[in-house]
Amino acid sequence: MFPICICTLHHIHTQSDSLTISPTMLQKAILRILDMGFTFITYGEFIEAILQNKNIGKKKVLLTFDDGYFDLYRFGFPILKELRIPAVCFLITNTIRDSKREIYDLEPKLHKNFNYSNDLEYFLNLSEILEMHASGLMEFDSHSATHFSCNSEDTERLKQELTHSRDKISEIFPHKKYFGFCFPRGDFNTNALNLLSTCGYDFAFSTIDGGLCKGDDLRRIRRIDISQSTRKEADYLFRLSKKLNLYSYPLLGNLYSNFRNRKFHRVP
Ligand SMILES: [Zn+2]
Repeated sequence: MFPICICTLHHIHTQSDSLTISPTMLQKAILRILDMGFTFITYGEFIEAILQNKNIGKKKVLLTFDDGYFDLYRFGFPILKELRIPAVCFLITNTIRDSKREIYDLEPKLHKNFNYSNDLEYFLNLSEILEMHASGLMEFDSHSATHFSCNSEDTERLKQELTHSRDKISEIFPHKKYFGFCFPRGDFNTNALNLLSTCGYDFAFSTIDGGLCKGDDLRRIRRIDISQSTRKEADYLFRLSKKLNLYSYPLLGNLYSNFRNRKFHRVP
């Protein structure tokens, strides 16, 4: 069953930008992954596999979207719906508003100019989150309250970020049983890893590049970043195939990932 390939995406938008792929590219990436013989799993299936050891079979991909941008709803969700592809989105919970969207056709704004406290219209609102969830395709989990770097020595603030965001997710989804966290910018330290279970999380995602292998630490699950497509389409799809191929081999993929991410091994 392992490795499970967990792919990371951010923006889905027609403007080219950092951490952004176009809607067309999202569609092509999904079709390429299917062509390679992989199947997409729901977040529920993923949780059963990692927490209850349920065998979900080989060559599985979980699609993850970080930050919860409105462009996921506007440009990505129609594609996911059409192709019936499940995914999970990690929300910065302080950005979620319970108000009606005023402007659907938002002015494009570069990712580097985003302000997580002020640009709330660029994030999903509650009704969009609920609509996507009701489709049966999308699940949601926490990406902290304010996109706080969890490589912090401020234990109180870390606790607040972890607890407040978990409370918010649990308020939106009262029947949710298991909680996952996604480290903003992939930052964490030993303190943050240890606080996860205290604050009610069952597992957490990192930005360490690689597949999720048997026996891995579930507090820093590896993922495969496919969120950047400023390069040419053919290059993007080639790189995507290469990474998925490599990381679906348990031994080779693990060795390569451990070598590439050796700096993370300093954190015990
Ligand atoms: Zn993020």
